[in-house]
Amino acid sequence: MLQRTHIFYCALLFIALLMPACQKARGTRALQNDSLLTKNTPDSLLPEMQSAVPITNASALSDSFVEDTNKYYVYLTFDDGPQRGTLTCLNIFKKLGVKATFFIIANNLYDKQQINILEKIRSNYPNIEIGNHSFSHADSHYKKFYSHPDSALLDFLVAQTMIDPLFKIIRLPGRSAWVNQSGLGHVSKELKPLCHLLDSMGFDVIGWDEEWNFTRDKFCNPVESPGVLARRIKNDLYMNKCNTPKHLVLLAHDRMFRAPNYADSLYKMISILKEDPRITFEIISHYPHLKNNRSATSTR
Ligand SMILES: [Zn+2]
Repeated sequence: MLQRTHIFYCALLFIALLMPACQKARGTRALQNDSLLTKNTPDSLLPEMQSAVPITNASALSDSFVEDTNKYYVYLTFDDGPQRGTLTCLNIFKKLGVKATFFIIANNLYDKQQINILEKIRSNYPNIEIGNHSFSHADSHYKKFYSHPDSALLDFLVAQTMIDPLFKIIRLPGRSAWVNQSGLGHVSKELKPLCHLLDSMGFDVIGWDEEWNFTRDKFCNPVESPGVLARRIKNDLYMNKCNTPKHLVLLAHDRMFRAPNYADSLYKMISILKEDPRITFEIISHYPHLKNNRSATSTR
């Protein structure tokens, strides 16, 4: 509990230090409330945080996007940034002219350099999009994190305020789940309490169809070769093996591509997919059937 409280105090301190001028506009006054800072139970925090990130019915606001039924869609999603490799990935997407999404960990925004990376990504919208990947990334203790849905929700609400993405779209740390306009899709029993809370607050949750695996050591190098992964992606698309037919979400991590030889692997994998003119790359807010509620705190 002490650790959790410490995390949120750090987050609140961060907001207080770096975004004071924007707080009124972003509706985050609740974060400054003295009573909030003296309370440390998730139940007592929730109503105030909820008012800081209200639901907006923004279907009319969301950018118009019409699906082409002759196309296959690939959503490149890169998790855990800003970190080493983030800018390399961004530059590759720009060079190849493909759309992609970065799911950001708010706790990684610990200095000006990291915040600058986030702003660089943000400035490339609508080709590149950002999403909420939590504040703490569950401190990598996923079972514990998901067994406390109220504090997990709070973790995402703090991150939403700090990252300030355009839409209320979440990627859960360490777990795949799908929540959209129809409510909960493929969601395990472990994740249901949290997903119900996120759904009731107007968030979409995005899972993944394929993951580009990495070595579980200090190097985090890609496991699959570009050719093998591209073949798997095409097979899933052509054989209707995705969560939504003809729409594939790929999970990868920025750090996998920080070294030049592996940056080249990313470049090659995308280039192979581009050889099929039916395959197109999209940002995650264009994935079918999302609520796409705008972040009410966003001033953009
Ligand atoms: Zn992650």
